[in-house]
Amino acid sequence: MPVIYLFGYPLGHSISPAMQNAALRARRIGGTRYEKLPLPPERMDDMLTALRVPQCLGANVTVPHKQSIMPRLDELTDLARHIGAVNTIVKRDGRLVGDNTDAYGFAETMRTHGVPLHGTRAAILGAGGAAAAAAYALAEQGAREIVLLNRTLARGIELADRLNPRFPQLELAINDWDALPYMKLVINATSVGMAPHGDQSPLSNLATLAADVVVFDLVYNPPITRLMRDAAGRGLRSIGGLDMLVYQGARAFELWTRQTAPVEIMRDAAARALE
Ligand code: NAP
Repeated sequence: MPVIYLFGYPLGHSISPAMQNAALRARRIGGTRYEKLPLPPERMDDMLTALRVPQCLGANVTVPHKQSIMPRLDELTDLARHIGAVNTIVKRDGRLVGDNTDAYGFAETMRTHGVPLHGTRAAILGAGGAAAAAAYALAEQGAREIVLLNRTLARGIELADRLNPRFPQLELAINDWDALPYMKLVINATSVGMAPHGDQSPLSNLATLAADVVVFDLVYNPPITRLMRDAAGRGLRSIGGLDMLVYQGARAFELWTRQTAPVEIMRDAAARALE
């Protein structure tokens, strides 16, 4: 039976199986199933063995394997190499190709919510895989300035060093918290605020944010995060991470199956799995 895996560790919280299996059923893709395979980093060889079985069409990859699996794959797309993380693996003629659909998920969410990226000034909280995807999407769409705000300075510098050569026109700053009042978009790409720590926020004080800022929290569980509640309390517009999850999953579905993703069915299934 054809199979698509989700690799990560631990995987208890994931709603991707509900979303992807709903899409596979909707498109009547003969018996293909999407399955969690929670394996710790020391079992990377087992992941590769599972991927190489002919019935396997590919995989999603999440924390903590998004970077460490990269050198073990046969090929990487330019996008995955530039972002520095793989979230989707596709089989092409038996070869394992590492790709990244998070940048698409980010850009599509901003597009469908009518948030312009061209010429914008954005602050990104975080400097991991999701932050890199968001930064890449922003830079590709012609953002004017990105301020990276990360707990670990070295990781912020590393991300800026990857972005700089490819986007020399982009204004980049690291850990410049004083820039927050000038931002049009503030993105949470840290794991702060994720269930079961839904009472936490990555930004303790929203008082200095501009009145027309958009706050985009990539965290999707809970659907309304503490950061979003705080933003609403100040009358600011905010967007949660569920749409990005759906769009990155839709792009992955299309890469595996070469069929159009049933986006609304995926959104409904993901939202239901979060209830
Ligand atoms: P990651 O590579 O592990 O990066 C985690 C980031 O969070 C790092 O920047 C880390 O800072 C920061 N962080 C963790 N704990 C922190 C704390 N207590 N205080 C301050 N910063 C902290 O993970 P990721 O893949 O980028 O994912 C990050 C978040 O985005 C997760 O919540 C994930 O669910 C979400 N996400 C959502 C989507 C979507 O489709 N909606 C897609 C991808 C990811 P340090 O560098 O200092 O450790």
